[in-house]
Amino acid sequence: MKVMKFGGTSVGKPERMHQVSQLITKDAEPKIVVLSALSGTTNALVEISASLSHGDRTLAKQQIDTLEAHYRSFVLDLLKKEETRTKGNALVTEHFEFLNIILRISFSEALNKDILAQGELMSTKLFSAYLEEQGIDHLLLPALEFMSIDANEEPQLPAIRAKLTHLLQEHKDKKLFITQGYICRNAKGEVDNLKRGGSDYTASLVAAAVHGTVCEIWTDIDGMHNNDPRIVEKTIAIKQLSFDEAAELAYFGAKILHPTCIWPAQQENVPVKLLNTMEPDAPGTVITKEAGSVGIKAVAAKDGIIAIKIKSSRMLLAYGFLRKVFEVFEKYHTSIDMITTSEVAVSVTIDSDMYLLQIVRELEPFGTVEVEDQQSIVSIVGNEIAKTEDVLHKLFSAVSEIPVTMVSYGGSPHNISLLVPSTNKTKTLQLLNKGLFGL
Ligand code: ASP
Ligand code: MG
Repeated sequence: MKVMKFGGTSVGKPERMHQVSQLITKDAEPKIVVLSALSGTTNALVEISASLSHGDRTLAKQQIDTLEAHYRSFVLDLLKKEETRTKGNALVTEHFEFLNIILRISFSEALNKDILAQGELMSTKLFSAYLEEQGIDHLLLPALEFMSIDANEEPQLPAIRAKLTHLLQEHKDKKLFITQGYICRNAKGEVDNLKRGGSDYTASLVAAAVHGTVCEIWTDIDGMHNNDPRIVEKTIAIKQLSFDEAAELAYFGAKILHPTCIWPAQQENVPVKLLNTMEPDAPGTVITKEAGSVGIKAVAAKDGIIAIKIKSSRMLLAYGFLRKVFEVFEKYHTSIDMITTSEVAVSVTIDSDMYLLQIVRELEPFGTVEVEDQQSIVSIVGNEIAKTEDVLHKLFSAVSEIPVTMVSYGGSPHNISLLVPSTNKTKTLQLLNKGLFGL
């Protein structure tokens, strides 16, 4: 069984859906196809939800109508036969009636999740209608019947596997399954989701659950690149990465892959391929257990980082100090990205300011606390970086003119991280592209 996931732009136009239908029927291997919402839809739903939460029903109604008009013309373009077009229109009606009913209900978080789920529900149903029109045998598998998260909002692979295996058993005669990315049920049984961009996560979970042969993530660029193509002029697609390298890159900024989506595939050792719908024959990036070659493979940057430095002479020769510091972050469910220590100070970075004030207040009894916001983590990712000849020299000569705030090296054999003021991010990425890759 092969898993193929197509993102919003890959299904965002009727002609793209046509392309997807060709890609999923190229070979005879059984498949589960995971789809995102049409591009722009989830953002539109977020806006509708925001209007409702502010009590602005008039605006919400306008936004719903605009979105509906988009789907009406999509159906007209996508479906040509009367029977399937009627079906397409009926399902659009059904989902927009739901959104219109919501206008009259008081807003809640559960309702918000229901609203956000409409995108994937519609994209998969429309695609299913299209496949039907093309005479392509398939089954629509509702993600809400097998994809779930627990009370900590974590997907539990064994539970997902049990439900999905059962569903597939019931439809042994089918070779092609279509399902929704992103959406799931939570511990209360309500509709929920795997967070923005979560369709990749769905695909990886599904691939791990069925022990798939491969998990293909189809987007609109040709794999993971060695640097951010929006910032530096020349970048190259990386042919091969290990799961660990890919996880670091996804977390530290490479937008192509959802950061949490690596672990399920890694756990079951299912290779992940990043492929380009517009260039289906390009090799893309293959992510497997083995790292392949030794050396630096990519750099990526993550913005919105806050550095917190705690200085205390009480840390000198003291034990238990770090535990107390970490407990504060734990209490506020705030994860630490980078950490460096000296004998009398510890610096950490976080990527959310949600509880910053509380955290600082609770750290203050330990010593002087300094906060620096608007920082970026620039991560250098590769395999056995420390074994790469001359690596530190190359790295630091490349960025010699940058005021680096923090350095983290040695925590992982796959990563060196630098913290730089965000105003220096672009320059840092450009200098590293030259200094490390000669590009
Ligand atoms: N449609 C969702 C989003 O835009 C999930 C996804 O595309 O992966 O975030
Ligand atoms: Mg997406």
